[in-house]
Amino acid sequence: MKIHEYQGKALLRLFHVPVPEGKPAFSVDEAVAVAEELGGPVWVVKAQIHAGGRGKGGGVKLARSLGEVRSHAEQILGMQLVTHQTGTAGQKVRRLLIEEGANIRKEYYVGIVTDRVSQKICVMASSEGGMDIEKVAHDTPERILKSYVEPSEGLAEEQAVALARGIGIPEDSVGQAVDVLRKLYQAYFETDASLAEINPLILTASGDVRALDAKFNFDSNALYRHPEIVAFRDLDEEDPAEIRASEFDLAYIQLDGNIGCLVNGAGLAMATMDTIKLFGGEPANFLDVGGGATTEKVTEAFKIMLDNPKLKAILVNIFGGIMRCDVIAEGVVAACRAVSLSVPLVVRMKGTNEDLGKQILKDSGLPIIAADSMAEAAEKVVAAALAHGAS
Ligand code: GDP
Ligand code: MN
Repeated sequence: MKIHEYQGKALLRLFHVPVPEGKPAFSVDEAVAVAEELGGPVWVVKAQIHAGGRGKGGGVKLARSLGEVRSHAEQILGMQLVTHQTGTAGQKVRRLLIEEGANIRKEYYVGIVTDRVSQKICVMASSEGGMDIEKVAHDTPERILKSYVEPSEGLAEEQAVALARGIGIPEDSVGQAVDVLRKLYQAYFETDASLAEINPLILTASGDVRALDAKFNFDSNALYRHPEIVAFRDLDEEDPAEIRASEFDLAYIQLDGNIGCLVNGAGLAMATMDTIKLFGGEPANFLDVGGGATTEKVTEAFKIMLDNPKLKAILVNIFGGIMRCDVIAEGVVAACRAVSLSVPLVVRMKGTNEDLGKQILKDSGLPIIAADSMAEAAEKVVAAALAHGAS
């Protein structure tokens, strides 16, 4: 789960990481009122969307008068902000953050991620902070220092000192930078974040260290123990199909292809997508209906997939373990009737009561294409999608 910068900064404040004074604003008048309260003489008007690269896209602007705050707010609020992370359609700006402007001497980068390969927490820092960090990571990765942390031990003082000195923080400010790194680590760890990033972390003209940006992602599997973070959720920033799916307890992720997949089990769902690609197709979604797939859930899953205008065919791939194939077959038949299926459907079933399941599909009289192996199912659905696309 992602949150906005102003919410990330509220978290940083809780963990005593220094951030500029500022408040969110939901209208132009509110933006000016916040600016007046902050007092100036320089303010920053910042678009709040769940994507980075806002500066380059025109979503972060300095203002030197209340009049400029107003005109920037008018321009940014409601705009369709396009950044390298939003895709070409961009994201509509519905919230702003109004902050006191900082006097920047230098911009650094610090970030913390869960590193699955080493099974540790990776703390990164760079002297090349600011708006081009992706380019730095790509062209000169040696300029990003990394320190690996054993989760049971935490970020040691020496590690933080080495990072701060390594990125060239002036000696007088190393203490502050170390403090920020350790508190950021604490924030990352205690909130079950999967990413905590400050870019830029700045050195001010007076030698202070401040977080000018804040980006957090959280592990959804841990959200049940963080109601305070769930409260930050902004549904306007999420994919409507994924929101609907989550209401029905379906694990659904929209993708770019045209072959819908309905599978039970995350591993089988991923293998199904791989097999589709192997046969030259492109999955339209990831969808794990889980172990307790009821007719209602399967019907909803079909509806969500069919709402995708790109959809050309559906592949249902079910392993009947505890969940019996006949139950799934009944669900599929009921769902097909409820949604009046408009694209070809390939079904593969294996496991408990497989024969009974296949019989139910056959008896339904629906134009379901049966397949026995994964390869056969993928080959058939790719061909069906092509044929349907051409018709
Ligand atoms: P992002 O582009 O989405 O990562 O947005 P950021 O919050 O990182 O802002 C982009 C850039 O705006 C920063 O790298 C800074 O160079 C600049 N910026 C942000 N806040 C201030 C500020 O208070 N003063 C000045 N001078 N520049 C700022
Ligand atoms: Mn940034």
